[in-house]
Amino acid sequence: MSTGHTELICPVFEDTWILRGEVGGRPLQLTLLRGSEGLLLLDTGCASDVEGLIVPAFEELKLSLSDLRWIVNTHCDVDHQGGNAGMKARAPSAILACGEADRETIVSPEAIMRRRYDAYREAHGIFYGEEARQWILKESGAEQPPDLTFAGGERLRLGEGRELEIVPLPGHSHGHLGVYDRANRALFAGDALHGSVYHGLDGSEALCPTYLYVPEYLRTADFVRELPLEIYVGCHWPVLRGRSAIVEFCDASRAFVVNAEGSILEALEAEPDGLTLRELCERCGPRLGNWPDAVHTELVFAFNGHMEDLQQRGLAEPVAGTSPVRYRSAQA
Ligand SMILES: [Zn+2]
Repeated sequence: MSTGHTELICPVFEDTWILRGEVGGRPLQLTLLRGSEGLLLLDTGCASDVEGLIVPAFEELKLSLSDLRWIVNTHCDVDHQGGNAGMKARAPSAILACGEADRETIVSPEAIMRRRYDAYREAHGIFYGEEARQWILKESGAEQPPDLTFAGGERLRLGEGRELEIVPLPGHSHGHLGVYDRANRALFAGDALHGSVYHGLDGSEALCPTYLYVPEYLRTADFVRELPLEIYVGCHWPVLRGRSAIVEFCDASRAFVVNAEGSILEALEAEPDGLTLRELCERCGPRLGNWPDAVHTELVFAFNGHMEDLQQRGLAEPVAGTSPVRYRSAQA
């Protein structure tokens, strides 16, 4: 059994490893947990990660795919569900599970395209170009309905002394899940929290936070902050060890949301005729991070969420009859 740190594998603690991949120039970390009665794989990466990362990592660790009992998707995204069909083909006895609220989005490439990546086309005129679209469809793999859905609160036993808890961590998606290893004070949290930015493999600021549902995301930041954790493992961020590093990450996640809202409200107050979602992203983006200019429109996920939240709270409103929708301050 190899437990050493290699290019593909990074041990977190006993019987727990990170499989280290890459997506769009950013790190992608899938977690593998072992008990005496089987293995759990958290997220399946993109479709090409089955043969490019997961299978080679199993070989390197001298683990058998037939011992894989659980495959859990933290949430609906190409880099977390894309290998589902490939992994079910490789490990047919494993049970593929996800959050109930993400099930319909996870089921197929067409579903995730329509419900997630192409969701802002009609109202806001924001959508991915054809090349990116084709890449997403290809890397989302073949249609693969999950076998089981979780609501949070379930316990999975991988063998004696290895009991894991499924915790709901909504905000980046409604059904986002984490795996909580209470005995080891560790949370495997997928993309539940984003801090202030996603970094690239070269350490540069690569992508803005991409939460979708503001109140849920803030509640998740508070929930994680209160858990008695010593280790926090996200899919695209360095592993955090120690309470203060974890609290700092939760606080940075919350602070970004607060800054984003302040920046949006300020921009709306300065424009009585209102602003489109694209204009808001382009105006506020440079004030929120140092990622490349082309990334500003990726704020659409978070900002659409902010606009829903601000309308709910009576602080902003759509201008009637505008297409793409213009928003204005409702405080004037
Ligand atoms: Zn991700």
